Amino acid sequence: MFWDEGVETISRRELEKLQGERLRESVARAAQSPFYKKRFAEAGLAPERIKGLADLSRIPFTTKDDLRISYPYGMLAVPLREVVRMHASSGTTGTPTVIYHTAADIDGWAGLCARSIVAAGVGPDDVFQNMMSYGLFTGGLGLHYGAEKVGCLTIPAGPGNTARQIKFMQDFGTTAVHMTPSYALHVADCVREAGIDPAGLTLRVAFFGAEPYSAGTARKLEAMFGLTAINSYGLSEMNGPGVAFECSERTGMHLWEDHYIMEVVDPRTGGPAAEGEVGELVLTTLQRTAMPVLRYRTRDLTRVIPGEPCPCGRTHRRIDRIMGRTDDMLIIRGVNVFPSQVEHVLMGLPEVGNNYQIVLDRVGHLDRMTIRVELYGKLFHGELRELRDIQRKIEEALRAQLVLTPKVELVEPGTLPASMGKAVRVIDNRQAEDE
Ligand code: ADP
Ligand code: ZN
Repeated sequence: MFWDEGVETISRRELEKLQGERLRESVARAAQSPFYKKRFAEAGLAPERIKGLADLSRIPFTTKDDLRISYPYGMLAVPLREVVRMHASSGTTGTPTVIYHTAADIDGWAGLCARSIVAAGVGPDDVFQNMMSYGLFTGGLGLHYGAEKVGCLTIPAGPGNTARQIKFMQDFGTTAVHMTPSYALHVADCVREAGIDPAGLTLRVAFFGAEPYSAGTARKLEAMFGLTAINSYGLSEMNGPGVAFECSERTGMHLWEDHYIMEVVDPRTGGPAAEGEVGELVLTTLQRTAMPVLRYRTRDLTRVIPGEPCPCGRTHRRIDRIMGRTDDMLIIRGVNVFPSQVEHVLMGLPEVGNNYQIVLDRVGHLDRMTIRVELYGKLFHGELRELRDIQRKIEEALRAQLVLTPKVELVEPGTLPASMGKAVRVIDNRQAEDE
């Protein structure tokens, strides 16, 4: 099933031609904004000199800081009267940044979301409960507009009030959901606590995104609810959800290349990463009008999946699951650790429950990493010796993966703060202890 078959299955040659033309237009539009006007002048680059894809690398990168210094209107490329909506990033790191949309931009974005939803095998017969936050955050409204375009019965539930979410799922026969994977784990706990068999719900497909999570977490959620987990990637700077999405083949996330040019670069040098290698994703908008963004450093680490095209027939290239962000890498006693590595280990262990937290302290001059792990179900009330064995097993598994030995603290299920949106996994007390 396709939403827009012609565009989704376009030949690579046609696609690249289209990208070249649209790049030229996008650069011309961007040059209308105060920010890019200045940026082009500083770089001594006349926008007309960008004639096609081959000239892409002459355009300077745009960073999150560029967006911040352009607050509030520096990146606006059209008169204010043409703008119909703004969003702001959730500010996982630092102050929020603002994104503007014209009516055409909203329509283009909704089309991308509709395309993604249909590619995942969801259609007009589905009841779609959207449990992402509505408001400045893009997760809620983004997929909402797409799902309505597709014709799903769309329930704008938003996150939280978990008992009501579960009641809705039962009463309306919800078949598709959209939420953060960390919230999904919490919902699973609540479903079980209420004495409901999660597999007895009518859920069929879940779109999980907005935060990094491991394949193990996805598989665990699939087994618990008896559904298909679809990885959904987006960021507010590039609209929000609907940038890259898994199709029902689930061989990686198709990045919609008629709307975005993707590059994968070495985060240290900014030069292109070798083919199929992990690097930082860099994106350029091709169709946005209110706020075109050129060569945006997403800070998200992934790779382009090499090899055969996807059996679904879509020609848009696929990216691998996001490994983490260049700015969430932890340096612990000089060793680089991504929170996603910790999650990968934990979610592969059946003794581990649905929540964990990474706590960093400094003792004297040494970093100490403690991983607080909720145990699975009733295990917590088991024998002390058994608990010690589990603790040792988790420590061993982490040491093998991380090349350092964290301290593992087992806690009772439901004691760590539950996440409704993006989970806060890392508590870094090291700076405070330095002062
Ligand atoms: P921010 O978190 O930067 O304040 P956003 O709300 O726009 O702003 O969130 C976008 C970010 O969320 C992405 O850059 C990425 O780091 C993360 N993200 C979104 N979808 C996924 C996904 N499917 N897997 C991993 N990370 C994701
Ligand atoms: Zn596919």
